[in-house]
Amino acid sequence: PYVLTEKNFFLYQEVTYPPEERGLQFGDGVYEVARIYQGKYFLLQEHIDRLYRSAEAIRLAVPFEKEELIDKLEQLREMNDVNEDAIVYLQVTRGSFPRTHAFPVENRPNLYAYIREMPRKLREIENGVRAILTRDVRWEYCYIKSLNLLPNVLAKQEATERGAFEAIFHRDGKITEGSSSNIFLVKGGKVYTHPATERILNGITRTKVKQFCDSLHIPFVEEAFSIEDIAKADEMFLTSTTSSIIPIIQVEEQLIAGGKPGEVTRKLQAAYEEAAGLAVKN
Ligand code: PMP
Repeated sequence: PYVLTEKNFFLYQEVTYPPEERGLQFGDGVYEVARIYQGKYFLLQEHIDRLYRSAEAIRLAVPFEKEELIDKLEQLREMNDVNEDAIVYLQVTRGSFPRTHAFPVENRPNLYAYIREMPRKLREIENGVRAILTRDVRWEYCYIKSLNLLPNVLAKQEATERGAFEAIFHRDGKITEGSSSNIFLVKGGKVYTHPATERILNGITRTKVKQFCDSLHIPFVEEAFSIEDIAKADEMFLTSTTSSIIPIIQVEEQLIAGGKPGEVTRKLQAAYEEAAGLAVKN
């Protein structure tokens, strides 16, 4: 497979970095993951826009103009002859320099992007998943999609070891988001989720769900809900680029909606499938 870098296209095995790479040593960089459905990018512009916002937030210059980067990603897709469901991973770091915390004087960022096949999580989408709760110990700039994912990694590992699909973060009794997803609660026909503050990553899928709610006349309330609210939830679901919309049917020991995906979740899933061109055609 081919990989795009700031210099050119290379074979996957050809892309190597020196030990003193700032992404490796400091997590000094930002990234994106975008979906490819049946060989076509989905919401790529939105992901690219967020990449530039993340980069700007850490005072990092992306080594391409937006349009140029999108062209190159299209080229990468063609070179890899991608026709199935996949993801593109893209990261930009502050480059390779002798180790010191402060920024290097020279502006020489590293970028790479690769595509990896990734089927839809159809079983989870259909049946729903279990989640655990874990304390949100992250920093105050979670709106930046930075490479520093250790709290997220530890949380997801805890979920995996406890047989759950996702770890839901809580801070001061309120749900913020998942280790790699946004979290939603449905109550009385309304959809609740944490507001897009600096405490969460404002998901591209989250933004789509907000639009779907608007067109379906489902009130979308950007208000954090509490751990106690979970016991009273009619439905819950999570969203992310790789997962799309997945029902949450259990949180810790608490069954949600009797352990079955709910009606509002199903409507939003249908809206997503239509938007992504995945709706079954007869
Ligand atoms: N929050 C976190 C912490 C994430 O890692 C992700 C996955 N990128 C999301 C939310 C969901 O964002 P998106 O819908 O853009 O994938």
